[in-house]
Amino acid sequence: MQFSSIIGQKEVIKKLLTSVRENRVAHTQLLLGPEGSGCLALSIAFAQYVTCKNRTETDSCGACPSCVKFEKFSHPDLHFFFPTTTNDAVKKDPKSLLFLNDWREYLTGCNAYATQSGWYDKIKVGNKQGTIYTRDASDMAKEISLKPYEAEYKIFIFWMAEKMHETASNKLLKTFEEPPQKTLIVLTAEKYELLLPTVRSRTQLIKVPKLSDEEITEELFSSTQAEEEEAKDIALLAGGNWNLAIETYENAKETQNNFIIFRKWLRLCFRPGNYLKLNSLNAELARIGRERQKSFLGYGLETVHNSILHNQGNEKYVKKSGDELEFSKRFAPFINTANQADIYQLLNQAIYHVERNAHGGILFSDLSFRISDLLNKTPAQ
Ligand SMILES: [Zn+2]
Repeated sequence: MQFSSIIGQKEVIKKLLTSVRENRVAHTQLLLGPEGSGCLALSIAFAQYVTCKNRTETDSCGACPSCVKFEKFSHPDLHFFFPTTTNDAVKKDPKSLLFLNDWREYLTGCNAYATQSGWYDKIKVGNKQGTIYTRDASDMAKEISLKPYEAEYKIFIFWMAEKMHETASNKLLKTFEEPPQKTLIVLTAEKYELLLPTVRSRTQLIKVPKLSDEEITEELFSSTQAEEEEAKDIALLAGGNWNLAIETYENAKETQNNFIIFRKWLRLCFRPGNYLKLNSLNAELARIGRERQKSFLGYGLETVHNSILHNQGNEKYVKKSGDELEFSKRFAPFINTANQADIYQLLNQAIYHVERNAHGGILFSDLSFRISDLLNKTPAQ
């Protein structure tokens, strides 16, 4: 991770660069900033910079053997500690070392813009909250006593340091205060008040502000397919949180995809003579994976619901605009008292079966035939 991949945060980067140039890098630092500000990404970029064999005034080279390992988050002198808890793979005594592969995959997927919910989803722990345990502190104590393997420095990065158990914090106080030579410790945290005062006082605090709307707009515009106006709207909603911005963008894109596919699917259901096309679309739906199937079916439920609102003269409650609004209006006449409850139930049942691993191919062809029958039903006069 190079500084050039960091979104915004020019002032923080300048501060970090100056500390290296002037040879006064604090051995234990605390990068404190809200979710989506990039504290973890910054700390990794900083560690990579310190370790790079060929750094410039402003960034690591991104190409030396050290940088190459850093880009995969797997340099032997880079050590991570982060909240964990039990899951299907780690049934007892969870600790960071047992989750390293998941952690590296997760960082690669989110470009080190980590969030607690994203991480807990990745390791499938449901609503359980993670902790940085005393076991982690022991692992760190063991590791820190060894010499660096390749780099000049050994680097320890703690993500969500406020999740450190009190016993673990106390165990590490001395280390934070006076780590061995050639050690760099970076704690990242979102909530200052949740850190023990004894930990706070042993670190050099660097505040990482939330991103500006302009920084988020610019990043969305350059790194996604968002149009400028859309990027601006999302940035306003995101309130300086990059993770929220990218999630909003992806949700909007998914809704748009669902809309396009659902409209196409319904049209084919209407004209059941066109079996070949309907079959091939059903086969496509069978392949898209469970989460997207559920999202597609959920979109169907929403559309039926909107049609009912139109039919009742409650258009003002239809939260759609543009093509989607137009489509729900045109679809409304085909939904009536003779079929609405059955269509609703069919879609709900399909979601239920998707969650229980039903065969996608059978599920979607069956669903399309039943929907097709129901759409041709009219209420008894
Ligand atoms: Zn390098």
